[in-house]
Amino acid sequence: MERSKNKKFIISLILLIPFVFGGFIPNETMMPAFRMKKIVLDAGHGGKDPGNLGSRSREKDINLAVTLMVGKYIEESMPDVEVIYTRKDDSFPTLKERPQIANNNKADLFVSIHSNSAANRSAFGTETFVMGTKHFDANFDIVKRENSVIFLEEDYKENYEGFDPASPESYMMFNLMSKAFFENSISLADQIETQFKDRVGRKSRGVKQGPFYVLWTPSMPSVLVELGFLSNSNEERFLMSETGQDYMASAIFRSIRDYKNQIESK
Ligand SMILES: [Zn+2]
Repeated sequence: MERSKNKKFIISLILLIPFVFGGFIPNETMMPAFRMKKIVLDAGHGGKDPGNLGSRSREKDINLAVTLMVGKYIEESMPDVEVIYTRKDDSFPTLKERPQIANNNKADLFVSIHSNSAANRSAFGTETFVMGTKHFDANFDIVKRENSVIFLEEDYKENYEGFDPASPESYMMFNLMSKAFFENSISLADQIETQFKDRVGRKSRGVKQGPFYVLWTPSMPSVLVELGFLSNSNEERFLMSETGQDYMASAIFRSIRDYKNQIESK
């Protein structure tokens, strides 16, 4: 009697083995699929830093309005995604703090939203940047302008370890992001520009590269969107209107949604 009990016990142990150890054997099909859970939305500038000035608008206000709309769309339509904002009001997070917020939260995506300006008032159109130095010379003006925000910060010399936004040599320290992050950033940037062009009817100036400080330190795919030129009166009027802001925000939202579906199905 005792023996057959033992036998039964041993047999059931043997039968259990695949279930118990199966859980510990890493297997391609058992690896949890990547899920995009957290997105950091960064409304460029803020507080004492107005950003570019149009004839009737300030960049910081337009960036914030569009960013909050993008966030609202994500929160409404993608309940599994947490949206983290670097600012939700007219405050002034430093250029260093913005990507830090993304890194500290272990975010899966960083999207920085800006508006452009140029001395040539006829210039208009959207462009989306990823971290990189290709054709850097052509984009140096805008990179320099965006990075020069650090001069408004106290202790910028200590915080940025001698980084000088106006000196091309300073950019030697910008090491490039990993290939996977770079490719994903390009993929999102492509989708944003396509949405702007095909769905909102904007002129897309394309996907570009630039060593922006905010794109340098995030440890995740990241893009910087330029919604248009406040120096161009037509574009300024469009970006100041609620309809224009809503069109741009929904275009960015759809790109993020498609990007999420795309990388999660990989
Ligand atoms: Zn800006």
